Amino acid sequence: MKSVTVVGSGIIGLTTARSLQEAGFQVRILAKEKFATTLSSKVGAIWFPFEIAPKEKSNVWASRAFYRYQEEINPKNGVTFIPFINAYTSESNNEWVQQLPPGSVHEVPKEKLPNGMDQGLISEVPLVEPGLYLPHLFEAFLSNGGTFLHEEIFSLAEMAALDHWVVNCTGLGAKAICQDEELYPIRGQILRCSKLKEQSFADPTKKGALLYLINRSEDAVIGGTDYDQDWNESEDPKDTELILDRLKKSGIHQEPEILEVLVGLRPKRSAVRFEFDPDYPTVFHNYGHGGAGFTVAWGCALELAEIIKKEALSS
Ligand SMILES: Cc1cc2nc3c(=O)[nH]c(=O)nc-3n(C[C@H](O)[C@H](O)[C@H](O)COP(=O)(O)OP(=O)(O)OC[C@H]3O[C@@H](n4cnc5c(N)ncnc54)[C@H](O)[C@@H]3O)c2cc1C
Repeated sequence: MKSVTVVGSGIIGLTTARSLQEAGFQVRILAKEKFATTLSSKVGAIWFPFEIAPKEKSNVWASRAFYRYQEEINPKNGVTFIPFINAYTSESNNEWVQQLPPGSVHEVPKEKLPNGMDQGLISEVPLVEPGLYLPHLFEAFLSNGGTFLHEEIFSLAEMAALDHWVVNCTGLGAKAICQDEELYPIRGQILRCSKLKEQSFADPTKKGALLYLINRSEDAVIGGTDYDQDWNESEDPKDTELILDRLKKSGIHQEPEILEVLVGLRPKRSAVRFEFDPDYPTVFHNYGHGGAGFTVAWGCALELAEIIKKEALSS
């Protein structure tokens, strides 16, 4: 089987690399940052299709990822399932519910919802802790014969020359490499805190006033902001105040002990770019997963390995 180079070592690059190995390819990862300093290393990460398009494909990818995470449950590797409440309104896309096992999603009685929520669904969903899961994927990649090259790529032509097949998993980095006008950041500021006693939840119903709490094994993540086209990667103390204020208004009066304030830029497009490049047909693009990279990563990775395997067998 021909070799493949995966460019990028965030959650999309690592799952892509593992999935290609599982399909029988010899795989190398090339990236300008190793997994520990990527956007992927900083975030929650809870399973929920937030700020990702198109809806139909994302739901299918999310579903495949959900079942893959079920096979991978192991707290040592950072994969568990936790009960999680999601607020919704009549405008919300709740089609993700159909992707979960029948009977596993329940309506939460209004009196049990955080203040400010009118309707909410509760289900057991994957919680993927990047600090444990990314190193686990990387070690599995190396022990299956993978190699890593620490390098930056500047153009598609350079990318295409890397290997027989190349998969572009560069997240927001693809903007410069592909001159992609459609790719833009959604800035997220989050607070990493000591664990809270409350139930984990998200209220994504108000654009610009996102609120969520994810209790993890050793800490909690409280979010956040969702500002379109904002490239500022520095912490903004006003955002920290806004987040804490929204948390208090939700009925949580325990003052969280802030351990770290983090900022990340979600790589958003009108649709995830998931296709062979029209000018460089040995390059497959897999980027632009917005606020749901962890939610869909395995779904994309498994599907693209099937596509590349089919191409490799027919060429
Ligand atoms: C605040 C916040 C909270 C979030 N919470 C969640 C959540 O709870 N659940 C969820 O599913 N998703 C969540 N997300 C979204 C998720 O973090 C992203 O969708 C995901 O991390 C994107 O992964 P990626 O691998 O595409 O990108 P990245 O993690 O950014 O990795 C990109 C890789 O490409 C490399 N690269 C880039 N440019 C080049 C270049 N020119 N040459 C070589 N290498 C290059 C980088 O070095 C890096 O290795 C959140 C995002 C934010 C900001």
